[in-house]
Amino acid sequence: MDFIKAEIDISALRHNFRQVRKLAGRDTLVCAVIKDNAYGHGLLPVAAVMADEGADSLAVADLSDAEKLRSAGFKLPILNISGILPCQAADAVKLHVSQTVSTFAGLLALEKAAKKQNKCALVHIEVDCGMGRLGVPAREFSPLFEKAKGFKNIFVEGIFTHFPSADTGIPATKKQAGLFRKAVRQCPSNIIYHSANSAALINCRETRMDMVRPGLMLYGLYPEGTEKKIKLKPALSLKTSVIMVKKAKKGDRVSYNGTYRTMKDTELAALPIGYGDGFSRLLSNTGEVIIRGKRYPVAGRVCMDLTMLDIGKHSGIKPGDEATLIGKNGGENITASEIALKCKTIPYEVVCGINKGIKRIYF
Ligand SMILES: *Cc1c(COP(=O)(O)O)cnc(C)c1O
Repeated sequence: MDFIKAEIDISALRHNFRQVRKLAGRDTLVCAVIKDNAYGHGLLPVAAVMADEGADSLAVADLSDAEKLRSAGFKLPILNISGILPCQAADAVKLHVSQTVSTFAGLLALEKAAKKQNKCALVHIEVDCGMGRLGVPAREFSPLFEKAKGFKNIFVEGIFTHFPSADTGIPATKKQAGLFRKAVRQCPSNIIYHSANSAALINCRETRMDMVRPGLMLYGLYPEGTEKKIKLKPALSLKTSVIMVKKAKKGDRVSYNGTYRTMKDTELAALPIGYGDGFSRLLSNTGEVIIRGKRYPVAGRVCMDLTMLDIGKHSGIKPGDEATLIGKNGGENITASEIALKCKTIPYEVVCGINKGIKRIYF
């Protein structure tokens, strides 16, 4: 892994945050979503940039991330947007995390833990308006909220929902936002109401409410179909170096199962990166890599730690040359979205899939 690095452009992160702020408007809180190692960009460094840019809170999906943030000295409010087991309630209270709750059992566990610590448990109740994941079904919200009010050591700081298709389903999203408003219409106004992820923030004004929760766009990646609506800067580049170049004859087979045959006499370059590092095996025979400002096709199967390219006879490529798997090189640019399309997935999975052991370099 030594010859693979993920470079993170801090000025791009700053630019993207400012775009969020602009869209959200002055009166809307911004909760920067940095779950899953900040979408592969590195939890603590990204948190530091977001805090410096004036994020109002940070969202994680695992209490262990909240613990890392608190240990590193972050004082910002932290929202855990995922669920916890009753046995984790004490940690949530201790870490002063605003915890997502959607059940009575969840409230009870937090109330007990908070009482024991002589503290208040901060709670955001999630309402399911069509996501079908966590969240209390909208029709069951009111009784749950009433119960929450009865607990002395619980403070309902927020109420939120999450949209399943704010990227491709704007009318459905508007409807779900309406459902959410209807479910909470009797609740006090000093609670923080929130719903918008990146796609909703870009596509659908009425989802902004008191706070927005963008993730993807902070990293410069576009929710599907939003490329023309906003200008973001991708923050992450994935690079390695060519470790070997060799000649191949017309008809030679390359990599496992010989799925690639050279069309003519050519040269092959080997890269020390494979699916074990997060360069998907689905890129076998379809992916491309940029070297010296030119794209070259992946030849044959991507292996666990190696990938071969067909570089032709006259590329001039030598071992040690930089190879760009994600990002810009010369006039060429490979985005996480391009890779996602080839792998039949979303850019989220491409950046989250970059092995945690790969060095992140910030500039
Ligand atoms: C991941 C997540 C977000 C951020 O979504 P993006 O599409 O990355 O902007 C917001 N809210 C919840 C509940 C999430 O799980």
